Amino acid sequence: MTDQSAPDREEEFAIFNHLESEVRSYARSFPVVFATARGAQLFARDGTAYLDFLMGCSSLNYGHNPPELKSALADYIASDGITHGLDLYNEAKESFLREFHETILRPRQLDYVVQFPGPTGANAVEAALKLARKITGRSNIIAFTNGFHGVSLGALSCTGNRYHRAAAGQLLGGVTRLPYDGYLGSSVDTADYLDRLLSDPSSGVDAPAAVIVETVQGEGGLNVAGTEWLQKVAAIARRHGALLIVDDIQAGVGRTDGFFSFEKSGLRPDIVTMAKSISGYGLPLALVLIDRKLDKWEPGEHNGTFRGNCHAFVTARAALEHFWRTDSLAASVRKKGNLLKSRLEQIAQKYDPSRVSIKGRGMMQGIDLKSGEVAGQVISTAFQRGLIVETSGPKDEVVKCLPPLVIEEDRLNQGLDILEDAIDSVIGGTVKTAA
Ligand SMILES: *Cc1c(COP(=O)(O)O)cnc(C)c1O
Repeated sequence: MTDQSAPDREEEFAIFNHLESEVRSYARSFPVVFATARGAQLFARDGTAYLDFLMGCSSLNYGHNPPELKSALADYIASDGITHGLDLYNEAKESFLREFHETILRPRQLDYVVQFPGPTGANAVEAALKLARKITGRSNIIAFTNGFHGVSLGALSCTGNRYHRAAAGQLLGGVTRLPYDGYLGSSVDTADYLDRLLSDPSSGVDAPAAVIVETVQGEGGLNVAGTEWLQKVAAIARRHGALLIVDDIQAGVGRTDGFFSFEKSGLRPDIVTMAKSISGYGLPLALVLIDRKLDKWEPGEHNGTFRGNCHAFVTARAALEHFWRTDSLAASVRKKGNLLKSRLEQIAQKYDPSRVSIKGRGMMQGIDLKSGEVAGQVISTAFQRGLIVETSGPKDEVVKCLPPLVIEEDRLNQGLDILEDAIDSVIGGTVKTAA
């Protein structure tokens, strides 16, 4: 990005440039120093407001600093509530488990036990893979093209992205990659292919411990698995003695429709991984939900120092109580998801489908611009006009909208206006001067 005030900017970022590793990433797309945040907005140090359609990559589904969660946390801290409790029984965990059972699991008749791995999504995926291998005594895992499951070695083996895989510096094994729904076009049912490979003793694919799948591929470019395909994959896994792991780290917690992204499809995964928005406040917390019959862990067999973050338990419980005891949030996600879809369709309709098309589901939808370069220009133009939105997909070609679920419709429209203008000015030839 060219910037007339570059020398000033250099100074503003001096400590980051000097001391923070080159590995930093999002900061490069949005080069300002942020200070505060509220709801759907981030505020830079100089007071400039940005509308946030990135939301911690779906870690902030209820917006920045939601007041109900903030006051619960502030009260807990003020009363000297336990901050770090290893995996000791504590009141914060007790209240969270109770609320999770009453509000989420019981109404959905899901008989899961909850494992608290380390606090990141990758930690949850590692635990899920390890458990599936332990239960089945098999080592192979089936993962899909364009899947993203984190970047620690086990999770990275399941992740498709070449750039991330290359950084492993070693062979990533134990995973067989298969085409996701629609990967070979609409005329090829890739679930049939999976079934064929697992049924043929000479296919060369070892019997898998698990199939790991996202219902909507967040990082992979907003590819959506069809209900029928998901049900078929679940049935195939079962028939071949493999567990079904749904990685609901990005698509879950209301992002697509229900609390879980797989509710609509009637799936009953053996294991579910959750992280990102489960704490509701951006605090680190991950869960592995394990079918009660499959909880074959021995005490302490998979451990960690930061298992279950008490502050995150407090905000997670408050979020469930405030947003999930009734159907109103899910209903508003359906409504706003439809609004998002129709606005994105209107934008796409202005252009040839070979240049612009829409992808995704619910409140994780976006625009495929077929080119990483174009998408990069669009997000940088949008940023100059006050919108933070990121790209995803194998070539970073899909602009991915992840507004907070609680965003007001006006604000949602306002962000989409900025996105539309940015797209028009980058590819529509209706170049306007940047604000
Ligand atoms: C973000 C993400 C992960 C990894 O979570 P981290 O907290 O970054 O380790 C895993 N799976 C999916 C689907 C994700 O979106």
